[in-house]
Amino acid sequence: MKAAVFQGPGRIAWQDVPDPSLQDPGDAILRVDVVTICGTDLHILKGDVPEVTPGRVLGHEAVGTVVETGRDVRTVRPGDRVLVSCISACGRCRFCREGRYGQCRGGGGWILGHLVDGTQAEYVRVPFADLSVHPLPSPVDSLDAVLLADIFPTAYEVGVLNGGVRPGDTVVVVGAGPVGLAAVATARLYSPGRIIAVDLAESRLAAARELGADATALAGEGPEQLVADLTDDGLGADVVMEAVGVPETFEMCTRMVRPGGRVANIGVHGKPASLHLEDLWIKDVTLTTGLVDTSSTPMLLRMMAAGRLPAAELITHRFDPGQMEEAYDVFGRAADTGALKVALGGARHTALETTTATDAG
Ligand SMILES: [Zn+2]
Ligand SMILES: [Zn+2]
Repeated sequence: MKAAVFQGPGRIAWQDVPDPSLQDPGDAILRVDVVTICGTDLHILKGDVPEVTPGRVLGHEAVGTVVETGRDVRTVRPGDRVLVSCISACGRCRFCREGRYGQCRGGGGWILGHLVDGTQAEYVRVPFADLSVHPLPSPVDSLDAVLLADIFPTAYEVGVLNGGVRPGDTVVVVGAGPVGLAAVATARLYSPGRIIAVDLAESRLAAARELGADATALAGEGPEQLVADLTDDGLGADVVMEAVGVPETFEMCTRMVRPGGRVANIGVHGKPASLHLEDLWIKDVTLTTGLVDTSSTPMLLRMMAAGRLPAAELITHRFDPGQMEEAYDVFGRAADTGALKVALGGARHTALETTTATDAG
């Protein structure tokens, strides 16, 4: 089969590799129908994730069709259309038993496209299939569902839930890439008083407004002043989410939060950031970090089936599966191409597209 193989920093190739086969009784083999590229894949490509060794098939977000299952797999069978979660779960370890699958100690966690071969391929082996794939209800289009592999649960769990968004809150989301936009959309589920989005690109801010941001600011045009102007006594926001992953934006978030407020870091950081405890120690600020658990995925799937989550707006570029290298190029130059999420494969049903557009409008 063909797959996107990491060749070492800066190099990826769509090339022939052996087909995956069952290795464990809990495995499933899937034909990949829709796959996306994640910002994390770009970190890997830059060489920021040293556990990923040359020869690894990348990718941890996909929708596929089950073609074969190991003898212990009970919940899916050949022919089922399923979402592949970016997090695999052994189901037996301490953390899995708490629903904290991201911290799995039994061989799961973020393994696909990281420690084992991933989804950017024609076929993929998914370990612990019972807890690591989700059968898709028929109203949900594969192209929409693929956004539930990572970006929606990440934004919702690590941003909205960790940030403790409550009705009436002023919420700031710094970074309006796919995850930041999903944070805007899922923060709205809690009826915040106002959502403010900050980004470097006007096109992304326009997308944030479309998904429900009430105010937006370019990063270079005084976002901190805007937040002060829009909050009581200029005290700052109740919840600030960091969805970029660089020191400057993290530090900006800690300056935008009100006393007693919450800063939820979602961004994947490759460098140290300063924590200004000399300013923060007295402010009762809560700071959270996290890797997604994907424990919210079944709930998010029900919301998507009910037309309560926007999706189509987030996929800006479509490719055939064989155009993987081109897709990486377009996604990697998002500032020039305006790419949010790129998807390879998948056919959208016209009727559903109409429904989705109306519901999100
Ligand atoms: Zn991802
Ligand atoms: Zn586990």
